Amino acid sequence: MVNLKKISTKFAKKIAKMNEGRSGNGIYKRRNRRNYRVIMQLNIYKKILENNPNQLDTYKRGYAVRVKPGEYFDCKGNRNKSIPKDLKLGENSFIYFKNPGDYDKYGKFCKDFVEVVELSTVESQEKIQILNTTKKRSWLGEYCLYVTNKGHESLICGKKEKKNDDGRKERIEKLRNDLPSILEKYGGEDNFIIDKELPNQTGLGNYDFDYASLENQGYANDQMTYLAFKIPGLKELLVKDNELITMDEVNAFEEKIKKSCVDAGSLDFQKLSEIGVWHLAEKVPICPLCKETLKPEEFLETAEQAEGREEEDNTQSQTVLMHIDALSAGKFNHCIYNLGWGHKHCNTIQGDKTIQEAIEDLERILSAHKNSDHLGNYF
Ligand SMILES: [Zn+2]
Repeated sequence: MVNLKKISTKFAKKIAKMNEGRSGNGIYKRRNRRNYRVIMQLNIYKKILENNPNQLDTYKRGYAVRVKPGEYFDCKGNRNKSIPKDLKLGENSFIYFKNPGDYDKYGKFCKDFVEVVELSTVESQEKIQILNTTKKRSWLGEYCLYVTNKGHESLICGKKEKKNDDGRKERIEKLRNDLPSILEKYGGEDNFIIDKELPNQTGLGNYDFDYASLENQGYANDQMTYLAFKIPGLKELLVKDNELITMDEVNAFEEKIKKSCVDAGSLDFQKLSEIGVWHLAEKVPICPLCKETLKPEEFLETAEQAEGREEEDNTQSQTVLMHIDALSAGKFNHCIYNLGWGHKHCNTIQGDKTIQEAIEDLERILSAHKNSDHLGNYF
């Protein structure tokens, strides 16, 4: 049986991209899988403790709370009384300096602290098991700096080495050399999970709202793969684009995905239609915002290519993944029956709102124009 990559590398890439958390600056790890370690803000952590502390166990590769210096310290440099007692710097939290004013005011209170260092990405099942059943930790340090306009940037907040960077390579080398003595401060390396090849210190975790377990990522991938196969003309285009593949092979693959979806309970077409990503009568996927059907060339991004305007690494796709309810901390909205394929333009209009909110917003704008005394030339 062929795999999706054999059928179309572009299609496979599109599905694989679904598993990536968004990229961010500073402490946010760039382009990691959605099940990677999560960084959350203090107010979210407090809410979780209040409502459902077990949620913290969901994050199998760990979590870290980023605390603002002004939240952590009182004016004398002591720990604020309002900080939850379970929050421990260097174990499940760190102080995150972003604001230059904060650095001037509170930086001096950190002189006995160590900057955050990632020791393991906790990728293998074995390491995930150790992290969840022992007290071993996968990172260390109590604070980090991302005060870019003052030039203070901890190693962990930087990007991967580039040519002519400002000594990042040397800083990593120094970290490797200093690590044994840093670890001694924390009782030695036995207290930690450390990857053979030290992680490249490009952030510590993903945004919490992007989180999805590996299992849920798999269900979502299958459901969205199946929906894409139902875009009219897509299969024909796949066969046309790739002479090494036959329609029989494409059909066999589609059947396999369909079976996985049925087993996972993700092919309830009534439900898909209710969330607005499926046309029941036509039996085709539709854009959840504008309700129009999708075009295979736009899904596979071959539309411009025919005209020879494409770039080698064209990331401007015209059909994109859309979330019906927006991603939000603790809601785990990257899941089946909350996803659909839609137009890039519609996705831009939606922004970080739910589809419902986006429609209400459009209604508000339209009615303001219709009722306005200053109509201009619009109506
Ligand atoms: Zn649309």
